[in-house]
Amino acid sequence: MADNQIKTRGTMFVFSGPSGGGKSSVIKRVLQEVKDIKISISVTTRDKREGEVEGEDYYFVSDKKFKQMIKDDAFYEYVDSDFGSNYGTPKEPINKMLAAGQDVILDLDYPGVQQLRSLAGDRVKAIFLMPPSLKILRERLVNRGTDSAEVIERRMSMAEKRINESVFYDYVVVNDILDNAVEEVKAIVIASRVEQKNLVGLDKMIKRVMKDK
Ligand code: 5GP
Repeated sequence: MADNQIKTRGTMFVFSGPSGGGKSSVIKRVLQEVKDIKISISVTTRDKREGEVEGEDYYFVSDKKFKQMIKDDAFYEYVDSDFGSNYGTPKEPINKMLAAGQDVILDLDYPGVQQLRSLAGDRVKAIFLMPPSLKILRERLVNRGTDSAEVIERRMSMAEKRINESVFYDYVVVNDILDNAVEEVKAIVIASRVEQKNLVGLDKMIKRVMKDK
């Protein structure tokens, strides 16, 4: 935006898509190429893996602390399982970024999108990254070489469920050619910054424009 006297409210851009669909590659490029956008760091109760950094990969907390955060209403969304590890999106760092006019990227599945929308619907844009086909998705998972045949089958059946959920998203970006998908996501982010509802101080801008006859 050319007008440096007007501020923009930040937006939460939630990305979903099947595993292996190239979501992390798209997110990485957008973070590198767009200014004033950051990724949300989740809170988890799982153990830190080798090489992971507190506050970069996750905020690692105890079960007790996680439960307390739920009580304190500190999450935009969370998964609370009695068996596995828990994960949540903390409100505070996101609210700080939004208030500073920064956009925030989140990587969540549809239940997370629903929770987020119920709490902050007007600040959320949900983007579904669609694989070009199930065949190509399978090829990408096989070529990635990180999953066993059994895990790939599980991811493929999850993928079908996720793809059907794409009708509930604000945007659907086909991730066929990475450069094109990145361009489309960048256009979504930039357009949100000139959305009238996101402009803080438009009244002042109007006065200024009118005065200069
Ligand atoms: P990992 O333990 O391998 O880092 O992540 C395991 C799973 O937790 C992934 O599917 C990831 O998407 C999910 N996850 C990570 N952070 C969050 C979060 O803040 N909220 C939710 N709902 N899921 C998360």
